Amino acid sequence: MKKIASAMLAAALLGTALAGCSNGGNQEGSGAGSTPSVGVAIYKFDDTFMTGVRNSIRQNGEGIAKLEIVDSQNSQPTQNDKVDLFLTKKTNALVINPVDRTAAGVIIDKAKAKDTPVVFLNREPLPEDMKKWDKVYYVGARAEESGTLSGQIIADYWKAHPEADKNGDGVLQYVMLKGEPGHQDAELRTQYSVQAIEDAGIKVEKVNEDTAMWDRVKGQEKMAAFLAANGDKIEAVLANNDDMALGAIEALKAAGYFTGDKYIPVVGVDATAPALQALEQGTMLGTVLNDAQNQGKAAVTLAAMLAKGDEITTESVGFEISDNQYIWIPYQKVTKENAAEFK
Ligand code: BGC
Ligand code: CA
Repeated sequence: MKKIASAMLAAALLGTALAGCSNGGNQEGSGAGSTPSVGVAIYKFDDTFMTGVRNSIRQNGEGIAKLEIVDSQNSQPTQNDKVDLFLTKKTNALVINPVDRTAAGVIIDKAKAKDTPVVFLNREPLPEDMKKWDKVYYVGARAEESGTLSGQIIADYWKAHPEADKNGDGVLQYVMLKGEPGHQDAELRTQYSVQAIEDAGIKVEKVNEDTAMWDRVKGQEKMAAFLAANGDKIEAVLANNDDMALGAIEALKAAGYFTGDKYIPVVGVDATAPALQALEQGTMLGTVLNDAQNQGKAAVTLAAMLAKGDEITTESVGFEISDNQYIWIPYQKVTKENAAEFK
């Protein structure tokens, strides 16, 4: 009797081991105890902030998920093909950073048909799409908050530095470098940063605004064009992310800024490594931490749990779940004073 029992146990263990092996090819369902497969599609690998998120997903996914991370190359059709491939391979859960956030609805329909949970990241699906299925989540940050914080940094500077009003008209003349139009972070940061300056009791005048598509080189080009057109009129530069702010700083340096007393306040968002360096060097006035580390960690933790069919609660995931479907990672103001804490 004992012998039979142990033989059965051995067979059962072997069965589990074999199931574990075949799962290595991402072909098998996720039995209890096995590591689930998670397919991750990033909108494009060539994005500074998303590279930070991707690295965090990889680090935090170690041991909890078999990850396959793919580059959608900034093309929604390419991403859709990658999603189809994941679903054909019976990947247990998906993490999707959409190229076009309005495409989330189609992805949700496909995933739902295969009962494959989806965690969206960084590009927020429309609320009506989120409502299509309860196994759909979004991990991100409140875009309004980052706008408000970056505007406050400019407002504080303006109040402490009367000389910042170069033409002495009592109005803050600014230029805006916008991210990709339609992206919630581009639209809301633009709106709320200016709103925060006005809420601080400061009159503003927009001198120029253009999109530089989150991109450093484009940020430099657009800023050079603003300077050529309006040069001395500009009293502050607001950028929707650090890469564009750093590009603007290059253009400003070429125009003689940041030497002697020729200065202009520049703010960004993300707190990337080169931005923290610029803060310490005094070329960038401030930025806002967009917490890549925790966004990546929350997304992969949640996806691995969904893949295994675990219960999703604030306690089980370790991040607060809002409205049953959202994890919001807070932003934080970063200036020269506290930059070292974020390195
Ligand atoms: C970041 C940008 C990034 C964009 C990509 C934003 O949240 O601030 O740096 O390019 O996401 O979607
Ligand atoms: Ca002025």
